Amino acid sequence: MNRSAFDNPIDPVEYTALSAQEQERVIQLQQTVLEDVALGKDHIQVIEDICRLAESAVPDSVASCMLLNDDGASLYVLAAPSIPAPAIARLDGLRPGPGGGSCGNAVFRAQPVFVENTLTDPRWCDIRQIAVDFNINACWSMPIRTAGGKVIGSFALSSFEHRQPGIFHRKLLEISAHLIGIVLARQASEARIAYLASHDTLTGLPNRTLIRDRLEQAIARARHARGGGAVVFLDLDNFKLVNDTLGHTLGDALLAQTAERLGACLQQADSLGRQGGDEFLIVLADARTPEAISAQAERMLDAMQAPFRIDGHVVAASLSLGIAAFPADGADPDTLIRKADAAMYHAKDAGRNTYRFFTERMNHDSAEHLKLRTDMRRALDAHEFILHYQPQLDLARNAIVGVEALIRWPHPELGPIPPARFIPVAESCGAIVPIGEWVLREACRQAAAWDALGLPPLVMAVNLSAVQFRRGDLEATVERALADSGLAPERLELELTESILLQDTAHMLQLVQRLKALGVKLSIDDFGTGYSNLAYLRQLAVDRLKIDQSFVRDMTHNADNASIVRAVVQMAHSLHLRVLAEGVEDASVLDRLRAFGCDEAQGYHLARPMDAAACAAFVQQARPATASGI
Ligand code: C2E
Ligand code: MG
Ligand code: MG
Repeated sequence: MNRSAFDNPIDPVEYTALSAQEQERVIQLQQTVLEDVALGKDHIQVIEDICRLAESAVPDSVASCMLLNDDGASLYVLAAPSIPAPAIARLDGLRPGPGGGSCGNAVFRAQPVFVENTLTDPRWCDIRQIAVDFNINACWSMPIRTAGGKVIGSFALSSFEHRQPGIFHRKLLEISAHLIGIVLARQASEARIAYLASHDTLTGLPNRTLIRDRLEQAIARARHARGGGAVVFLDLDNFKLVNDTLGHTLGDALLAQTAERLGACLQQADSLGRQGGDEFLIVLADARTPEAISAQAERMLDAMQAPFRIDGHVVAASLSLGIAAFPADGADPDTLIRKADAAMYHAKDAGRNTYRFFTERMNHDSAEHLKLRTDMRRALDAHEFILHYQPQLDLARNAIVGVEALIRWPHPELGPIPPARFIPVAESCGAIVPIGEWVLREACRQAAAWDALGLPPLVMAVNLSAVQFRRGDLEATVERALADSGLAPERLELELTESILLQDTAHMLQLVQRLKALGVKLSIDDFGTGYSNLAYLRQLAVDRLKIDQSFVRDMTHNADNASIVRAVVQMAHSLHLRVLAEGVEDASVLDRLRAFGCDEAQGYHLARPMDAAACAAFVQQARPATASGI
């Protein structure tokens, strides 16, 4: 019943029952199809050849191949080289069913249908007039199946005389239908391969190759018409964080939904493609004023405003856009994409969730990025990096109990470069591993040196990058830094970000456990900016949360932020975690934090980051001040 035409088209026993001449015809049919395919003939031409060969084997007959339309409810004539156009017009739209003639029945019943007399047979009741008008007296039809056995159409021989098929005729029909099934499956997979080669499977958008082609065409058309256009480079902000914390499946869903929202912002002549990862490209194929392009960019940013609902999560996402116009910014796809990309980074620098046009200024910036990258390795050997230390105050004891080590790079030519600028560069090129190792060693050495000077024992907090977790041997590095400096493990605190902890790889979690087993403390930096939940952090044996400064800074004016800080303190305490507030810039904030029961504070109001000598002096002079209160 379920037997597919692909399983065994020619039963060997029946085959030998054919005459030598009939066998020869069957072989000829197969060979013709093979040659056609080898010659790269169009699939319709191949099927027409099959029709002609079948007709030549059965005198006074015409062959036809009908396929189901996409809706599955009606058939259309794909090939029927000997049937006149008016007859084809009448057959098109035939509905499979018990009265739908031989083909309508073959598809409806999914089995061969041999009608000897079309003028009397009840299976022709719906289309009898066609038989009359075109002198069709008999009609034999064989279902065409996919490799999976699904019926997709029929192959038929219509005859001008009443007759029943013999074994040879049945074989001929079977083999023809089988070959057509194969030819169509080829054709389908070619189309599929062509589609896959040019489209991104996740979003269904043109991939980077196709969108580049479209850009090339748009540039050529613009050149011809003396017009213009633009290319927009889009990148999701903080996508890595979403991927790292909520998992790749959710990240993929976010990308797919973003593609949909962007698609809704396009105009007729625009095309959207996926450049790779979380990057998209839009080709604006007609000249628009900068104002019009800006307005469209704004619409795209607006389209991202509403949070995404994915698999029970509510995810906020935004985009950064870079725009390069042609011919002004370039006349070839590579230059334009590169410039739009540079402009996109400018949008990121400007705080994300915004757009920027390419200007020469951005060229300069990307050159600087490259310079930082090359200078960085040398800087380490040349001892250009230094550490500053920012004191941390225990609010209950009113005493400095720790310091955070913050790296500084006084560049010999460019002047001081803030870590927010060079750490991402170091992460992107891997230089963060040796730099991070140096920070750990230097911070431990300094803490031990202060002990030797008789300072009160301070906990030394060191920032870690996610890249140090993935590459390099972090555990051994920490162990060595402790051993070489002689600092007790509990005096070292490693600051992790939420994104590091929630990378759900077993490796990551084991590494955190092993670090913890060394006896060091762990804290979560910038808490509140990621997606972690407190109970999970508790399970990971984290000691302390550092509430991000964005919640703390304006706490006295922003009631929402104040209640967030209060809630974090309460929840953390219920899980026996300590809480430090970052970014304390004035006394009123400090008062509120005390009232909320926050354990520790750090910020410009208490002390700025300072070099080692200044920090030691600060800690020394703060000691007597402890009694009177800072
Ligand atoms: P972070 O770890 O959150 O460090 C706190 C940042 O806030 C420091 O910026 C500090 O100078 C600044 N800050 C402290 N108090 C206040 C305040 O009251 N108001 C304001 N507005 N800011 C305050 P900095 O030194 O520029 O460092 C920025 C970030 O760079 C750090 O953020 C950290 O993520 C990263 N970083 C710094 N040093 C290292 C390092 O050695 N390794 C790694 N991987 N990252 C580092
Ligand atoms: Mg930190
Ligand atoms: Mg922080």
